[in-house]
Amino acid sequence: MKILGIETTCDETAAAIVAHDEEGGASILANEVLSQIAEHAAYGGVVPEIAARAHVEVLDRLIDRALDRAGLGLDDLDGIAVAAGPGLIGGVLIGLVTAKTLALVTRKPLLAVNHLEAHALTARLTDGLAFPYLLLLASGGHTQLVAVKGVGQYVRLGGTIDDAIGEAFDKVAKLLGLGYPGGPEVERMAEAGDPERFGLPRPMLGRREADFSLSGLKTALRIEAERIAPLAERDVADLCASFQAAITDVVVDRARVALRAFSGVAGHPTALVAAGGVSANGAIRRALASLAGEAGLAFVAPPLQLCGDNGAMIAWAGLERLRLGLTDDLTVPARARWPFAEKPGSAAVIV
Ligand code: ATP
Ligand code: MG
Ligand code: FE
Repeated sequence: MKILGIETTCDETAAAIVAHDEEGGASILANEVLSQIAEHAAYGGVVPEIAARAHVEVLDRLIDRALDRAGLGLDDLDGIAVAAGPGLIGGVLIGLVTAKTLALVTRKPLLAVNHLEAHALTARLTDGLAFPYLLLLASGGHTQLVAVKGVGQYVRLGGTIDDAIGEAFDKVAKLLGLGYPGGPEVERMAEAGDPERFGLPRPMLGRREADFSLSGLKTALRIEAERIAPLAERDVADLCASFQAAITDVVVDRARVALRAFSGVAGHPTALVAAGGVSANGAIRRALASLAGEAGLAFVAPPLQLCGDNGAMIAWAGLERLRLGLTDDLTVPARARWPFAEKPGSAAVIV
């Protein structure tokens, strides 16, 4: 089975081809990603109209390139998968209309994938992981702890009540005059910094629900930064290290609470999985790996190029859905908002 995956929900234009056969398992035949970071950097965040225009300009070429890399033609595909949301609606529409057109002319099945579900299922592409597992999904727009029970079966155990983790990294980077996206910049600066110089708060630590709140932490950092301004490079490094240490403590504590709640909704987990752009962070990865070790679980995080937005995860989620007969017709809508996991007790949204 070979699936094309298209991703245009935010600031990466991506096209990939993933193959799966029963004996050989899954393989990524092509994974083309064009980041628009340079276009948005001057604004310190993603500008929707600039993003949409950039997707229009490059998507067709990127799909051609993915097919070339894989040595395939459109006729060799078994399905066309696309992220139909959630995301910036202009970008989502460009990917979805392209996928619908390809599905129509090739008469292949269309697979409308939830972008967050694709992040959630990536560990099955890379590590062949079995259900159920505990997922920390942390990116620029989302922060959730989710029990992944099966394709389309996701129970939300906790989430952020204000900023997403990646968003907090991005805002702190902006505040400290570092580049965009902020996560990698803050991590790089933190390497040389003292994580104990500033006693930043650890919001929500010890709470029984696995929720996050990060806006207070960001404010505390801003107050410290203003107190010691003007900032020398050493100060910025210490602030970054202190911030990253605080976030890491919060993530581990919240994941521990979610692990405790897990068995009540999904039985015994096979692993603790980190996904989304933030899972590229080394400090967070190491802390989660040691939490998983304590709990006797495997820790799985996708390789770096599959942590951020990419087409391979969309193709894989489409492949999982096609195997279950979950195809879509040409009326499927583009969705700016599309929750993928619900609180325990309410029905899963994606079927
Ligand atoms: P969505 O939330 O819809 O998935 P997104 O574009 O934010 O969209 P990703 O591309 O998965 O999703 O993640 C990007 C985010 O990850 C940015 O906020 C970025 O700062 C953060 N990030 C990337 N690398 C690191 C890192 N090393 N440490 C911390 N955060 C990071
Ligand atoms: Mg992105
Ligand atoms: Fe994403």
